[in-house]
Amino acid sequence: MHSIQQIIEQGKQALVLIPEINLTPQTIARFKQRFALPIVALHSSLNASSRLSAWLAARSGEAKIVIGTRSAIFTPMANLGLIIVDEEHDSSFKQQDTFRYHARDLAIWRARDAGVPVVLGSATPSLETLQHSWAGRYRYFTLPERAGAAMLPHFRVVDLRGQFVEQGLSPALLQEMKKHLATGNQVLLFLNRRGFSPVLLCQSCAWMALCKHCDARMTYHLRPPRLHCHYCEAQQKVPEKCENCGDQQFTTLGLGTQRLEEALQTQFPEFPLTRIDRDSTRRKGQMEERLAGIENGTYRILIGTQMIAKGHHFPNVTLVGVIDSDAGLFSSDFRASERLGQVLIQVAGRAGRASKPGEVWIQTHYPDHPLIQQLKQGDYLTFAKTLLSERQEAKLPPTASWALLHAEAHRPHEVENFLQEAKAIATALQGPINTRGPISALMARRAGRHRMQLLFQAQEKKALQRFLRLFLARLETLSTKLRIHWSLDVDPVEMG
Ligand code: ZN
Ligand code: ZN
Repeated sequence: MHSIQQIIEQGKQALVLIPEINLTPQTIARFKQRFALPIVALHSSLNASSRLSAWLAARSGEAKIVIGTRSAIFTPMANLGLIIVDEEHDSSFKQQDTFRYHARDLAIWRARDAGVPVVLGSATPSLETLQHSWAGRYRYFTLPERAGAAMLPHFRVVDLRGQFVEQGLSPALLQEMKKHLATGNQVLLFLNRRGFSPVLLCQSCAWMALCKHCDARMTYHLRPPRLHCHYCEAQQKVPEKCENCGDQQFTTLGLGTQRLEEALQTQFPEFPLTRIDRDSTRRKGQMEERLAGIENGTYRILIGTQMIAKGHHFPNVTLVGVIDSDAGLFSSDFRASERLGQVLIQVAGRAGRASKPGEVWIQTHYPDHPLIQQLKQGDYLTFAKTLLSERQEAKLPPTASWALLHAEAHRPHEVENFLQEAKAIATALQGPINTRGPISALMARRAGRHRMQLLFQAQEKKALQRFLRLFLARLETLSTKLRIHWSLDVDPVEMG
C-alpha cells in the first residue's frame, strides 16, 4: 500500500495481480477505502462492456490502480510504475491450457522490460521465488509482525495410528472441537476433497464405479445423488445394481467434504455449519452468503477445501482441524509436499486474533515425518529449505529447467508415433538436454483421449530455451502433428 502511494504521487499507475475471482470484491473494497482514486478491476467474470471500459481506462492512464487476476498481466498501461503479485505462490497464476503462461513470471519480465519495480508477496513463497531470493537475484523483505496484531497459531499433531477414527474425525479432535464450540468460538475443518466420497464400491464383488472416458474413479455426490468425474465433468446416475455381479448393495470408501458435513451434523446438531467448496459456491452469491454468515457468527463450524485458504479472515475461528495431511506427503507429483505446506500454513493463518489466538490440529498417520515436524513449528522457511535441497539432490525444478511436450488423441498409436518423431528431432539436435519418454501421462486416458508426453530436462534455462527454439521449428514440419492435440509447456507446474 505504501509503495502504491509513492508511485501514484509520482503520477504513475500500479498493476496489482491477485489469485482468485472470489477475492476481487473484498480486495477492491480495501483499495477504495484507502485511495480516493479511479480503480478498475479486470477478471473473467466481467461482461464485455465493463471489461472494455476498464481496459480503456488502464490504457489511457486514467485508472491509477488496476487490480486483476492472471490475464490482467497483459493490460496495456500508459504509465506503469509498479507491479504487485499478491499470493505469488498461488497456482492459479499459471494458465494450464491453450496459451500456457505463468502470470508471476510474466510480471517479472514485464517489470524488467518497463524498468519498474515488481513486488511478489506471500506468507508461503514458492520455491522458485525463494531460490531467486536466496541467490541474491531478488531483494528479500520480511514482515515480522502479523497483520492486525494476530499471533501465530499453536500447532499440534494428532497421531491417527491405532485411534478409532470415524468419518475422518479422531476422538481427540472431536473433544477439542467441543471445547472451542462451548466457549462460543468457531471451528474450521480443512479437507481438500469435494463430493461425498471418491469411491463407490459394490459390497459383494468390490466393483468400482469408473469413468467411461478417463482412467479415473467417479466421485459419489450426495445432493443430488450422482456420480461425477472431476477430470472430464462426466456425470451419471448412481447405478441401481452392480455392473459386474448385479448385487444392489453399495458402499463408499474415503471422505469428501459432503460426507464430513453429514458426519458433523450428526455429531454437533446444535451448531449450524457451512461448507465452502466448488460445488457449494457455484451459483452467484453463494460464496458471499457463506462468508457473511461466518463473519456474523451464524455458522459455528466451517468445512472447506483450499478455497478457504485464500485471503479470507475468520477472526472468531480459534481451532483449525486439518483432516487429512497424508496425501500431500506421498504423492506421485513431486510438488504435492510444497502445496501441502503452503495450504497448511495459509489455512492456519485464517485463524485467530490477538485476543483469540488460534490452534491448528494436524491429523496424520506419519507424525514423525520431518516435513510434518517442520510444519508443526509453523516454520515455513525451514520447511521450504528442506524441500529445496531435496529438489537439488534429485535435479528437480526449480533447480533444473523442464519443458513438457504433451500429446493426446483418440488413437494411442498416433500419439506414440508423433512423440517418437519428436524425440528423434530432439536427439538429432544434441546439446545438454535430457529427453525422457514417451511415457504415459499420470492420467493415461482423459475425456476419451490417450495421453502421453516427452520431458525435456536441462541444468540451465538458457540451454533449454535455445534448444526449444530449434526444436519447435522442426516439430512444426511433422505431418503426424495434424492428427493429434499437442502442447509444449515450459516450466510445467502440473505433470498432466
Ligand atoms: Zn472422466
Ligand atoms: Zn458387484
